[in-house]
Amino acid sequence: MQNYEKLSFGFFPLNLIGFSSGSSCLLSFAIGKRVSSPVITQPAMSKKCLDCGEPITGRIDKKFCSDQCRNNYNNRLNSDTTNLVRNVNNILRKNRRIIQELTPEEKATVHKTKLSDRGFNFSYFTNTYTTKKGTVYYFCYEYGYLPVGNDFYFLVRRSGKDENKEGKETER
Ligand SMILES: [Zn+2]
Repeated sequence: MQNYEKLSFGFFPLNLIGFSSGSSCLLSFAIGKRVSSPVITQPAMSKKCLDCGEPITGRIDKKFCSDQCRNNYNNRLNSDTTNLVRNVNNILRKNRRIIQELTPEEKATVHKTKLSDRGFNFSYFTNTYTTKKGTVYYFCYEYGYLPVGNDFYFLVRRSGKDENKEGKETER
């Protein structure tokens, strides 16, 4: 402090003191606000636990009335997600198996009933493939189908180089 006094001829330290007392003032105001804030949580009393639906008391950002409820909720959410994924996977695998059964060679044309009788689900597929002409094939993994009119479907097996599981794909 004494060095500054000498350098700034006494003005600088006075400024410093002025700033620091000002900022400490602001700080105490800020702290005062935070301390008094829990009053705001009062209207949140009507908030309900996401698990059991009971009214929640306490902090405004609470979502559950207890740890037990939070665990219940998260466990249920996880198992729902797992079930959904499992169900969709099963549908896709079933679709794939049905096309596979109906496509002993690489290609086949079948009536819609051949697919639907086996439980084919037309709402689920893994991807689409659009040809240069704009024809859209629907694929369940490497097996695809194309509606060709009059309730007939053209079935294909994709012979991709990156899918080596099927083995020999040389003849096309
Ligand atoms: Zn609860």
